[in-house]
Amino acid sequence: MAYQTINPFDGSVVQTFQEFSDTELASALDSAADCFAGWRQTSFAERAAIAHKAASLLRKQSGDYARLITLEMGKRIEEAEGEVALSADIIDYYADHAEAFLKPQPLKPESGEAVIESSPLGVLFGVQPWNFPYYQLARFAAPNLMAGNVVMVKHAGCVPQCAQAFEKLWRDAGAPAGAYTNLVISYDQVNAVIDDPRIKGVALTGSADAGKSVAARAGQNLKKSTMELGGSDAFIVLEDADLDKTVEWAVWGKMNNMGQCCVAAKRFLVVDSLADRFLEKFQAALAGLKAGDPMDRATTLAPLSTEGALTKLVEQVDKAVAQGATLVMGGKRLDRPGFFMEPTILTDIAPDTAAFREEFFGPVALFFRVKDEDEAVALANDSDFGLGGSVFTQDIARGKRVAERIETGMVFINQPTWTAPDLPFGGINISGYGRELSGLGIQEFVNKKLVRVALIDAAA
Ligand code: NAP
Repeated sequence: MAYQTINPFDGSVVQTFQEFSDTELASALDSAADCFAGWRQTSFAERAAIAHKAASLLRKQSGDYARLITLEMGKRIEEAEGEVALSADIIDYYADHAEAFLKPQPLKPESGEAVIESSPLGVLFGVQPWNFPYYQLARFAAPNLMAGNVVMVKHAGCVPQCAQAFEKLWRDAGAPAGAYTNLVISYDQVNAVIDDPRIKGVALTGSADAGKSVAARAGQNLKKSTMELGGSDAFIVLEDADLDKTVEWAVWGKMNNMGQCCVAAKRFLVVDSLADRFLEKFQAALAGLKAGDPMDRATTLAPLSTEGALTKLVEQVDKAVAQGATLVMGGKRLDRPGFFMEPTILTDIAPDTAAFREEFFGPVALFFRVKDEDEAVALANDSDFGLGGSVFTQDIARGKRVAERIETGMVFINQPTWTAPDLPFGGINISGYGRELSGLGIQEFVNKKLVRVALIDAAA
């Protein structure tokens, strides 16, 4: 079954969900289109009241929402609670700022008047991943609902209860039927939704392969799309970095969400003079993580999201080793029920091997020793991806110079790449295009309409 809750802690099947029939899908599309006709007329204040209510419900019932995340994709409960809080913050942020972000912008033409107005486009379609089951939805839904669009979402098959809970959240907050619709649909139905003339924009967060398929379909229909895809972020450690604090961040950057973050630190590029000490401390910290029930706050090593994700990752590691990489630690499935994998470090990864180019979506660190800053930058940029990255140095001016040379959508100095409502998020190259969050995120699916008052007697 495509839509199923399977507990990653023990592999048990908890609940199975039926996909929509074509008739149910057609009726959901009708309802969204009907809703848009009214929703676009509502004021920012009316929409903000609903959004604030949704954020407050998330916070009030944080424990319930968080437990659903942990049940369905195995995130540690504390991280799940953090995600619920972040999702609420994003919703509040757009409730507070949407009107200012979208206010008319007067121009100064040579004659007459001109203004750029921002109006909603209509029904938008989002395809979303399981790794942050609410945060990804909040990132898409909050700005677009506040802009006066309505949204339909196909969530990942392994988090169907989170998907339903987020739809219910908006209804409980007072949003009209059709403002936020959860679609339990097949890939063929995804294509049918994109083809529907009432769909005015498409946003996908997920792998590059999914992005190619969905972006191609949107392109065939000449529909605007945004693509938030994978990454292979570099974590650069320069010789003047604070080693102990840097290693702490390396562990967080690698192991937060069990490494299943698009912006997880994936390639560790450490300058020669610190490389041995960094590797020793990093390895010791990873070895100290304790596998257990992600609902238990004492657990520091959670399962991966699905059996498929675990199998794929172990296969990637095996292939890397077969192609000449050295396994510093880990590499295997844990001998226990559930989808657990050992924290893993690979080194000696040759540029002509698959591991050098692929995204490792889990607790696998690729370690590279570099001669100096220039070699670190060159290696960081030798990637098909271009999402985030980080540089660790006590010299902030130097960090900024390095950041300027890194070809990605986001670079953080002295912390791994992360996210906040007011910081833009997105990448370049096969990491996708478009931005979510901040003032940029709300501009992606609005009509920037020029309204011009011309002088009737003036030349054109
Ligand atoms: P995925 O397999 O691409 O799935 C993402 C979503 O796309 C799911 O809803 C999936 O549905 C759907 N999907 C996949 N192939 C499709 C197709 N051909 N047609 C229509 N829908 C399709 O990715 P994932 O494994 O869930 O997520 C991990 C990936 O997402 C990683 O590469 C990660 O880096 C990336 N990611 C990027 C960002 C960002 O902001 N840049 C954020 C988070 C994650 P099913 O579940 O039903 O297959």
